Amino acid sequence: MIPTKPILIYGTTWCPDCRRAKQFFGEHRVQYTWVDIEQDEAAMAEVERINEGKRIVPTIICPDGEILTEPSNDELAAKLGLYATAKHAFYDLIIVGAGPAGLTTAIYTAREGLNTLILEKSAAGGQVANTQFLENYPGFDQGISGAEFATRLTNQARRFGVELLQATAVEDISRDGLYLRVKTSAGNEYGARAVLIATGSRYRRLNVPGERELIGAAIHFCATCDGPFYKGKDVLVVGGGNSGFQEGLFLKQYARNITIVEFLPEVKASKVLQEKVAEQANMAVVPNHAIQAFQAERGKLLVSKCRIAPPAKSGSGAPMASSSSPASAPTAISCRLRSSVTAPGLSPPVRRWRPPCPASSPRATCARAAPSRPPRPLAKARPPRS
Ligand SMILES: Cc1cc2nc3c(=O)[nH]c(=O)nc-3n(C[C@H](O)[C@H](O)[C@H](O)COP(=O)(O)OP(=O)(O)OC[C@H]3O[C@@H](n4cnc5c(N)ncnc54)[C@H](O)[C@@H]3O)c2cc1C
Repeated sequence: MIPTKPILIYGTTWCPDCRRAKQFFGEHRVQYTWVDIEQDEAAMAEVERINEGKRIVPTIICPDGEILTEPSNDELAAKLGLYATAKHAFYDLIIVGAGPAGLTTAIYTAREGLNTLILEKSAAGGQVANTQFLENYPGFDQGISGAEFATRLTNQARRFGVELLQATAVEDISRDGLYLRVKTSAGNEYGARAVLIATGSRYRRLNVPGERELIGAAIHFCATCDGPFYKGKDVLVVGGGNSGFQEGLFLKQYARNITIVEFLPEVKASKVLQEKVAEQANMAVVPNHAIQAFQAERGKLLVSKCRIAPPAKSGSGAPMASSSSPASAPTAISCRLRSSVTAPGLSPPVRRWRPPCPASSPRATCARAAPSRPPRPLAKARPPRS
């Protein structure tokens, strides 16, 4: 069973096994207390005492007093009681993935009397469990936290008799006569009449330092879902394709300033979108820059700094620009460019941006000639037809 008291993790910031353990607990929404032993002499001494003079990290103290040193994910799952075997060898339906899609399906199928098993490689809830706050789900007029929503959905499915195995990835599905055979990471095999794959989607990550710990708190993938949190803030949109431009335009109703960063030398968004963005006084586009890192302060899930660096092939890896924002502000996807900080050999960040020049006109002429666009007049409302 998932412990109700927090687990204590002694570790260091540079230790990959500590990060893995923290990620495992985070994914399973298990509370833990993190102690960086390099910042805490007493904790360092405690780790040495436990490990007979050795500094082994992570050293994890479980609520029942058991001590785990450098545990594997399997050991952690076993400790949390997450590894279980399903009650039956055969089900009417096996659902792969316990996100909102898998859990919702299970509620309907179990309610209709179909014997339903869900196999989930991580924790129930899927992406929604990592969402800070959901405001757009029908029926929750005051909104609901992602974690609570995931718990309610899981409880509702269980109430109808759905079986759910967590920390159990599906590794193979094969046909076995009329039925399907599902193989799991725990080495078990289950038969089913039907298998529903509800493994969701994965957002492409930048894979830069600081990104993972800020996802859901300060880095988001959905402007309509999370944009309202950024009223009056400066927001950074990563990616200059149609999605990035559309998300940026949506965010302009909330954010104070929006900067779209694109790592290619030119943005790929359609011309219509580029023109719309160019019309906005509070939007800027910075091509030819890649995000290098997100920085959080003292491990808190708040962005305080963000660096923009040129893509590796374009030369020096020196930061192009960096910015700070008050540590208290949940400025997320957000970071402000400071144009005074530039790296040698690179053009400074562009604050205002114009659509690309027509192919025929030389770039310099076009840039000089391009006037700032006056806002389009609003179309007059037509009188209603009688
Ligand atoms: C940060 C963030 C904020 C969001 N905010 C909102 C919001 O405010 N409002 C909103 O409507 N939507 C929001 N979304 C989107 C919403 O979370 C998704 O649309 C929703 O979770 C999709 O549900 P799903 O069940 O299709 O997939 P997922 O939620 O992705 O679930 C798929 C599940 O399948 C599991 N899985 C994958 N492969 C395997 C395997 N081989 N074996 C077993 N299990 C497997 C995964 O671990 C996962 O749990 C947000 C998403 C993110 C990331």
